[in-house]
Amino acid sequence: MTSNRFAFFNGEFVPIEQAQVSVMTAALNYGLGVFEGIRAYWNADDGQLYVFHLREHMERLRRSCNIMFMNLPYSVDELYDLTVELLRREAFREDAYIRPLVFKSDHTIAVRLNNMTDAFVLYAVPFGQYIPGTAVRACVSSWRRIEDNIMPSRAKVSGGYVNSALAKTEALLNGYDEAIVLGGDGQVSEASAANLYIVRNGALITPPITSDILEGITRRVVAHLAQAELGVPVIERPIDRTELYVAEEAFFCGTGAEVKPIIEIDRRPVGSGAVGEITARLAELYSAVVRGCLPAYRAWCTPVYID
Ligand code: PMP
Repeated sequence: MTSNRFAFFNGEFVPIEQAQVSVMTAALNYGLGVFEGIRAYWNADDGQLYVFHLREHMERLRRSCNIMFMNLPYSVDELYDLTVELLRREAFREDAYIRPLVFKSDHTIAVRLNNMTDAFVLYAVPFGQYIPGTAVRACVSSWRRIEDNIMPSRAKVSGGYVNSALAKTEALLNGYDEAIVLGGDGQVSEASAANLYIVRNGALITPPITSDILEGITRRVVAHLAQAELGVPVIERPIDRTELYVAEEAFFCGTGAEVKPIIEIDRRPVGSGAVGEITARLAELYSAVVRGCLPAYRAWCTPVYID
């Protein structure tokens, strides 16, 4: 049975079932891939599907490729156009998640990045919430975040998600919704697949990009919205673990996580234990922005369908 789903694979659009690799693929054996996670939001009022910050995601994909000696034969413009073309073929009338992946496709027993072949695949799936629930309970993970001199933390490298999966699994098996991971220096870095903000003295605080975090696109969007729309100052500085326990508010942010309030960390309530006011306003703003509802931010959203 074939579905009507597509992938762009080896330079052409094919039915998703045909986008297959061998078990010998280097990327499968050694985690040698780089990828992106992009969201498209269905706006029923406009009858339009909007891709959020498509260009920024493709620019980060190219940066990840550069770090990992991957040759991606498409420009950011071409990746942008391919994504729109894929989504038009899929004809989604619901929210979707878009996954471009560049990977070492050789069938050799060789652990290296140079003198290897790179493959590219792009596909999309219907997608709802990544972290279930309106507010979450988090724990500080016993796993440390990968350090930049061990594995590039600012690139979205497939193999790096072993660290994310270990932290997330530990959190889930211990009854929490998400993990907060400390860096090698013991300072707060981020979540398993999202960045983190806390609120102290009415200001948003997030770890700097030199703290072994992914340079999150949502993290930057949140900083902009907080300052420009809410007049809330944003400070980038190291965060101690115990600051998590005295924060007025805390939330995760990411393409998948969106703006996700944290109401408890390590069994201590965050602030009052209810969703904080700044967090709630940011979450509301964010969901309006990504769905193309605010004209001032429409330029961040790529409309997929032509009237
Ligand atoms: N950190 C990690 C480890 C992630 O996987 C993600 C999700 N891409 C983020 C942060 C958030 O990044 P973005 O806002 O660009 O999705």
